[in-house]
Amino acid sequence: MKPESIARDPLTARVARYLSESTCAVAFTGAGISTESGIPDFRSPGGVWSRYKPVLFPDFLASEDARRQYWQMKKEGYHELKGAKPNAGHLALARLEAVKKLVAVITQNIDGLHQDAGSRRVLELHGTSRHCVCLECDSRYDPDLIQERLEAGVEIPLCDGCGGLIKSATISFGQAMPEDVLTEAFNLCIDTDLILAIGSSLVVEPAASLPFHAKQNGARLVIINRTETPLDSLADVVLREPIGVSLAEIVNRMEL
Ligand SMILES: [Zn+2]
Repeated sequence: MKPESIARDPLTARVARYLSESTCAVAFTGAGISTESGIPDFRSPGGVWSRYKPVLFPDFLASEDARRQYWQMKKEGYHELKGAKPNAGHLALARLEAVKKLVAVITQNIDGLHQDAGSRRVLELHGTSRHCVCLECDSRYDPDLIQERLEAGVEIPLCDGCGGLIKSATISFGQAMPEDVLTEAFNLCIDTDLILAIGSSLVVEPAASLPFHAKQNGARLVIINRTETPLDSLADVVLREPIGVSLAEIVNRMEL
């Protein structure tokens, strides 16, 4: 056994024990769980997100140039998102929910990979890339259809019904998060006895405060992330290992 796996073993065993003892565990996930499926973190170099400055929501509403840039970025990032498959980390969380050892996944991700893996209760704080929506009449559009239009030369897609602006159902910078989802997430974190914070740097809000609230209300806090987070000193366990490997190992140890 290599030294690093010796070091890791007691920690994954401890997390497995926490999960076994828990009755209402919650997972909170960020970009780190999806980078293992090939989706770049918007902060990391190389992805479409590093080539463009994100369009702020007020600019999207106010400026045709901003809308053109927004859709150019969506068009280029489309295939990267479309081709991504859930990895061992997503699958482990879905398995935990299926055997009633996890109540819900709260996620900052918009890629839909938790649902693809089989997770049923997924709270998407930043919306979803799995559909587009008319900002005027709320009509929904399949992103595949919008992509066809973009590839056919349409620069700014408009609603067939009302001519309103169409936007991805993701939450842009400067756009309010869905209030009902946020409230449900906070309530879950107040009630939970164990929160697994996975693949998030826990810096932006509400990412920082959700696990913090859980811990303040008596929950155990487990952090699985490649880099340090501001909540590491509060955590019961911090794992720096890759997410898929760690979660698969934790689930294996539970002998479900
Ligand atoms: Zn419309």
